[in-house]
Amino acid sequence: MPSRTSFIYHPDALLHNTGPGHPERRERLETMVAHLMTTDLWQKLDHARPEEAKIDDLTLAHAKHYVEWVQKSIAEGETLLDEGDTRVCRESWRAALLGVGSVLQGVEVACGKEKRNVFCAVRPPGHHAMTSRAMGFCLFNNIAIGARTAQKKHGVERVAIVDWDVHHGNGTQEIFWHDPTVLYVSLHQYPLWPGTGSASEVGEGPGTGFTVNCPMAPGSGEKEYAAAFRDTIRPALKKFGPQLLMISAGFDAHKSDPLANINLDSTTFAMLTRMLRDAVATSTTCGVVSVLEGGYDMHALAESVEQHVSQLIV
Ligand SMILES: [Zn+2]
Repeated sequence: MPSRTSFIYHPDALLHNTGPGHPERRERLETMVAHLMTTDLWQKLDHARPEEAKIDDLTLAHAKHYVEWVQKSIAEGETLLDEGDTRVCRESWRAALLGVGSVLQGVEVACGKEKRNVFCAVRPPGHHAMTSRAMGFCLFNNIAIGARTAQKKHGVERVAIVDWDVHHGNGTQEIFWHDPTVLYVSLHQYPLWPGTGSASEVGEGPGTGFTVNCPMAPGSGEKEYAAAFRDTIRPALKKFGPQLLMISAGFDAHKSDPLANINLDSTTFAMLTRMLRDAVATSTTCGVVSVLEGGYDMHALAESVEQHVSQLIV
């Protein structure tokens, strides 16, 4: 009997209000969930609601003074945490804790007894959040905290994080820059904000070689992504042999996305998911933990998540 795939989501993620005209808005999750409910997929998923993460979870990837600053700023009614685009409201603290909590629950499901695959439908996203800085709509680095929790709580030694969001996950890269136990692989448009992610950025000290960047030229499509996977990502994953695969699943490399210029179709995300699962099939002992990052065309996001999650069902 195959184990079911978990879909972890809390409707209070919708309370995170970024203000009028902001691309990272509640409709992203509302449209996605409404769309999935119209598909056969919805019935096949095991639906779970997360609990809020604790401060001690956040400090697995962030400085304590930063966590306290975010909490205090939000409590005092601050609406801007970083240079114009990381907007918050009073409910953002709860949404952020639920976002991290979703990944913690995902890790429990994937690395505990059940070994299920998991998709965490969260906002705010996380991969730009650095040790001590909010950035790019991100407050806390959901996936980084999840990876550290898998190591600490479940004894997982090697975690691979594959990030196909169209923007480089500079926060995740920074957090694991010196760490040889977490392989960080990113496919992203380059050049593009935040400006990092050249192929020469490979980690440092004991972490050298455990950061792998695949910068993609504007206009790249499925063919170029498949080639990067075949030539760079698959060999890196095979060599590393992760016990746990985590995916920073942003869907803003879709051709309809307003924030970038990569030309993937919704179905490309099914292909990438299959390729990744296949590349780690012989080394992983846990389920896959996939975590939503970006994706700003509502329809493309909903369709792409459907394609991606359909390939997480075993
Ligand atoms: Zn993005």
